[in-house]
Amino acid sequence: MYGDAVARLVGELKALPGVGQRTAERLAFHLVQAPPERARALARALQDVSESVRPCRVCFNVTDQDPCRLCSDPGRDAGLLCVVERPQDVLALERVGGFRGRYHVLLGAVSLLDGVAAEDLTIAPLVARVKQGGVREVLLATNPTFDGDATALHLQAALAPLGVRLTRLARGLPIGGSLELASKAILTEALERRQAFPAAQE
Ligand SMILES: [Zn+2]
Repeated sequence: MYGDAVARLVGELKALPGVGQRTAERLAFHLVQAPPERARALARALQDVSESVRPCRVCFNVTDQDPCRLCSDPGRDAGLLCVVERPQDVLALERVGGFRGRYHVLLGAVSLLDGVAAEDLTIAPLVARVKQGGVREVLLATNPTFDGDATALHLQAALAPLGVRLTRLARGLPIGGSLELASKAILTEALERRQAFPAAQE
């Protein structure tokens, strides 16, 4: 209908999360009608990302330097690890500010529905990190969803035998929501008032 090249662009855009046919077409036609530099700059940014961005070998956050800036920052407390599901969650917590520990990104959550098992996540490298020593507290900051809670229980089973203090973000985050979508005030409070996990531990 609008030529192979545009159809291919629409197809690629449609493969992105949250982008349907109409949005893909709107974006494609915007790019087609924009000055050519706009489309070239976008193509270059995509190429740079695909060539230079990798998971950090320590925390699995996305980074263009390995270990990432957060893992290499001597000003951050290596004794406090915040475990999150996805790189976007690191971004959400860093935007809030106030957290001065380090992170571990699971690259997903345990999910029966999506067929994700605990072994598919970066739990083994997390256990290895804690076993290396120097970690006092692991804050389980998985999302307040069914899958996030199930993942926290898996983490508890894996980490409790290591004798490290386990905490969970305070309730107050909307149930079924995500760190990414939580307001700054709610996220700050959830961090500050984090609780022992499981609750009966203390
Ligand atoms: Zn890192």
